[in-house]
Amino acid sequence: MTDTAIFDRITFIGIGLIGSSMARVIKRDGLANHITVTTRSQETLDNAIELGLCDTGTLDMAEAVQGADLVMICTPMGAFASIGAEIAGSLKPGAIISDVGSVKEPVFETLAPALPDHVHLVPGHPVAGTEQSGPESGFPELFEGRWTILTPAKGVDANATARVEELWKRCGAMVEIMDAKHHDQVLAITSHLPHLIAYTIVGTATDLGEDMQKEVIQFSASGFRDFTRIAASDPTMWRDIFLTNRDAVLDVLGRFDEDLTELKRAIRRGDGDALFDHFTRTRAIRRSVIDAGQQIPPAPANDTD
Ligand code: NAP
Repeated sequence: MTDTAIFDRITFIGIGLIGSSMARVIKRDGLANHITVTTRSQETLDNAIELGLCDTGTLDMAEAVQGADLVMICTPMGAFASIGAEIAGSLKPGAIISDVGSVKEPVFETLAPALPDHVHLVPGHPVAGTEQSGPESGFPELFEGRWTILTPAKGVDANATARVEELWKRCGAMVEIMDAKHHDQVLAITSHLPHLIAYTIVGTATDLGEDMQKEVIQFSASGFRDFTRIAASDPTMWRDIFLTNRDAVLDVLGRFDEDLTELKRAIRRGDGDALFDHFTRTRAIRRSVIDAGQQIPPAPANDTD
């Protein structure tokens, strides 16, 4: 292995925005001696090869993971169960299996049961992204200064977790270890609910009459514009997020509903003090987000994670 390599062989299953961004850093900085890529379609595989994201590529998933020290699954989460079944018999003893899925508890229900005992599962989620998809949309700076959350089960080989952590740190990320269920509850409020609101608002605007729609687009100030960017996020990925994190999303949605009702009541009653107090409180939260260094410039490294 070279001095800089953390793994000898890494296999990417799925090479879209997230996988290709990781592969770009790994190639650039020599973090692996060999990268193999496997995807669903020949077109994406050809793209990945043309972009120089891998040393070898194949559509055969089982063949792709043979001899891999790290298998990084970067597909929508709806594919995890079938991927587990397909690769289980070809994984080498001691291999580390990780992923980048946006919801973490389901990984233990879909992927984990298919895996043999002789591998180490270290699920992860980079809290970074854009609304773009595909291998051409990735860029190596995507994870810089952003969090990656790892959710290994209790008792998982500490060395396996440490190596995945090291990889993310070398990709520029800050790493936090968290319980999977807790991760899903936190992300339900910080990411999943805001996306649901964006999908709703943009859907409502789309349903307005044609003239009104024109004006909505013509006069869209940054508020609505930001919502349209979020609502342009990949439909497959977000369908899978809401299906897999159903309970946590429904829980925060219930609380959101109550707060919205309170604001509605304040508007109806002309209760300016209640509105002012609420907006003052939320303004302070914005300040703490900026202080935590999580405010990032808009495109391309914008947030749809
Ligand atoms: P993407 O750009 O759409 O790429 C998806 C990749 O997965 C493609 O290579 C695709 O192959 C492959 N794939 C799709 N369905 C598959 C299936 N059924 N079986 C095998 N391969 C399949 O997706 P992405 O944005 O990188 O997201 C990947 C994962 O990262 C998701 O689980 C998502 O939750 C997570 N994530 C995304 C973001 C974000 O902002 N995008 C942020 C954090 C985490 P083909 O092109 O050949 O079909």
